[in-house]
Amino acid sequence: MTDKLTVSVLGTGIMGAAMARSLLRAGHTVHAWNRTRAKAEPLAADGAQVTDTPAEAVRDADVVLTMLYDGKAVAEVMREAAPALRTGLLWAQSTTVGIEAVGDLAAFAREHALVFYDAPVLGTRQPAEAGQLTVIAAGPAGARDTVTPVFDAVGTRTVWTGEDGAAGSATRLKLVTNSWILAATAAAGEVLALARALDVEPQKFFDLIAGGPLDMGYLRAKADLVLNGELSPPSFAVATAEKDARLIVEAGEKHGVRLDVAAATAERFRRAAAQGHADEDMAAAYFAGFDDEDSGSC
Ligand code: NAP
Repeated sequence: MTDKLTVSVLGTGIMGAAMARSLLRAGHTVHAWNRTRAKAEPLAADGAQVTDTPAEAVRDADVVLTMLYDGKAVAEVMREAAPALRTGLLWAQSTTVGIEAVGDLAAFAREHALVFYDAPVLGTRQPAEAGQLTVIAAGPAGARDTVTPVFDAVGTRTVWTGEDGAAGSATRLKLVTNSWILAATAAAGEVLALARALDVEPQKFFDLIAGGPLDMGYLRAKADLVLNGELSPPSFAVATAEKDARLIVEAGEKHGVRLDVAAATAERFRRAAAQGHADEDMAAAYFAGFDDEDSGSC
């Protein structure tokens, strides 16, 4: 069997479009579908076949890759695709969803005799565009040889966490990792907001921690977006970050651990979104530190 596959990419937002391009660069055939067709259309210039419906996209595919907003959107789109799903089709589910949603989606896969891989990704717009994501994957060993070229096209590393996609071990690791990413982003915003309120030059803080264990590339990257006014286009939008923070809080509640920081982080993203920053990079959580938005202008 050739390792050149026909991959159906359902969802061509920030991440899905970049992953589709990586698949095309690797020589795979890509059928791309997006709810708002205009966002998928530029992929035609890269060689993708853009389809009108999810069903058209999955027909004749070897692998379906879902990169939608949340579990509800994935369930809706896969239901639309259902009439054209063939027995034994591989499904790499990369959308960040909750642990329960993984179980529901895996049940859908079982009903339709699909081979399900729980396959969230680590990395944002730029690594996605460069094909340098890390794929966290769980699913049956038997079909890994077929799905691996897809993961190799979108990422530089695949971390396998188990053989049972339905158990959500990959999603569990993804949520744990995102709890760190989102807390760090919210903390970066608070550092800048407090510095501003206390009349401390942010550079003085960065100089103070430079090169020591408190320094952190991610802190600097997110702070720079705020300080340089580079919040659009987003790498990871405020609204998506709020969705992920709530998935983390919910996972904590269901598994008996109290996550105060994640809850406060979700609330900061909610406030920033309500202030009009929903589509900006999640670094815009900075603005949640100010009741009067203008007082946060850098
Ligand atoms: P995005 O740019 O907002 O894309 C979201 C996609 O979902 C769009 O294609 C959107 O379609 C589609 N969608 C939303 N609701 C839908 C529905 N009800 N039915 C059909 N399609 C629907 O978001 P993204 O940043 O690419 O993120 C995609 C997923 O990857 C999310 O689960 C996110 O948590 C995860 N993720 C993101 C990053 C990151 O850094 N951005 C990193 C790792 C994982 P429309 O174009 O029609 O709105």
